[in-house]
Amino acid sequence: MIEHIPTAGLLTQPTPLHALPNLSQYLGGPSLYIKRDDLTGLGFGGNKVRKLDYLMADILRRGYDHIVTGAYFQSNWCTAVTAAANRFGLKTVLVKRGPAGYVPTQYEGNHLLHVMLGAEIIVAEGKTDADVKHAVVQRLRDAGHNPVLVNVGGSEPLGVLGYVSGVRELVQQASERGLRLDYLVHASGSGGTQAGTVIGAKAFGDGLHVVCSSTGSRSQQVGTALVRSLIDATIEEYALPVTVADDEIELYDQYAHGYGHATPAKLEAVALLARLEGLFIDPVYTASAMACLIDQCRQGRFKVGQNVVFLHTGGQAAIFPYEPVIRNQLAGEPLAWQVPPWDPAG
Ligand SMILES: *Cc1c(COP(=O)(O)O)cnc(C)c1O
Repeated sequence: MIEHIPTAGLLTQPTPLHALPNLSQYLGGPSLYIKRDDLTGLGFGGNKVRKLDYLMADILRRGYDHIVTGAYFQSNWCTAVTAAANRFGLKTVLVKRGPAGYVPTQYEGNHLLHVMLGAEIIVAEGKTDADVKHAVVQRLRDAGHNPVLVNVGGSEPLGVLGYVSGVRELVQQASERGLRLDYLVHASGSGGTQAGTVIGAKAFGDGLHVVCSSTGSRSQQVGTALVRSLIDATIEEYALPVTVADDEIELYDQYAHGYGHATPAKLEAVALLARLEGLFIDPVYTASAMACLIDQCRQGRFKVGQNVVFLHTGGQAAIFPYEPVIRNQLAGEPLAWQVPPWDPAG
C-alpha cells in the first residue's frame, strides 16, 4: 500500500513486542503487551523516529541544508529531529516555547540533549513562535542557505505514514505468534501518530481498535478534529484504500490535566511501570496513556481474554526534569508543583 514510498533508513526494525505479565496480573483484566517504540534506534528513540524515517527521505531528496522547527521547551520532537538532521549532516534551528524571559540555566532533560546535539536554540513566547520561525527561515535564505520549515511533531501526511507502517509491523509481529490484538493504547499530541495508527489498524488490524489519551495541549473535540483532518489528508494524498468512520477516532482528554502538568495519576503510572515491570515511561506522554489504560482496565472496558497493546512512544529524557515531583509522589507527599517551571504559562 505504501511500500513504494522511500524511507531514510533511520529505524531499527522491528521494535520489540512483549508481554507485561506483572501489570496484567496487578490490574486483573486483559492480557497486556507493550510495543517498544522507545527503542526505534536513533537518539533516545521514540515515535518521532518513525515519522522522521519518511520525512528525512523527502528532505534529503529536495536538497535542504537546514531544518527549522520547534515545539515546547522539553520537546522529544526537537531531540529526534536534530538527531536525524545530524545523521545526514544538516543543521537545525529549534524555536522552543518557554515562559516570557525564561533563561534556561538548568540544562536538563531534553533541553540538555538539544544543547548536546548542537542545535541553534531560540526560546520564544508561545504566541510569537510562528513569526520567529518564519524570520529564521528568511534569515537563512538571505545568507544563501536552503532551509525547510517542518511542522511541530512532524504531523503531516508523509509523517503519518510512519505509523501506518508501524501498525503493519505490529500486526505482523503479533500474528507470527498467533496473537490477535484487540486494542492499541497510546498518547496523542500533535495527532500524527494517532492518524497513522488508526489508518494502519483499518488497513491491517483485523478488528484492532485504537484508544488514545491526549496530553493536554487541546480538548477532546479539537484534538479529534485535528486527527480527523490528518487522516483525511493522508488518505487523499497517498490514495489509500481505507475509510475511517468518526467513531474509530477515540481520544480522551481527562488524563493529562494540561500539557506536561504533574498529576498523581500520571506519576502513579510512572512508578507502577518501574516497580512492576522494570520499565521507564515518561511523565508527559506515555504516563497519560498509561493512566488511561489503567483507568479503562479498572472500569472494565478492557476485559479478561482480550489482548491490549500499549504503544511505548518514548520520551524518557523527560523523567529527569520531573525529579522533584517524582520524589514527592514516591514519598506520598504533596507535589511541589503541578505546572512545570519551564511551561510558557509557568
Ligand atoms: C510526540 C510524542 C507523542 C505524541 O505523538 P503525536 O504524533 O505528536 O501525537 C507521544 N509520546 C511521546 C513520548 C512523544 O514524544
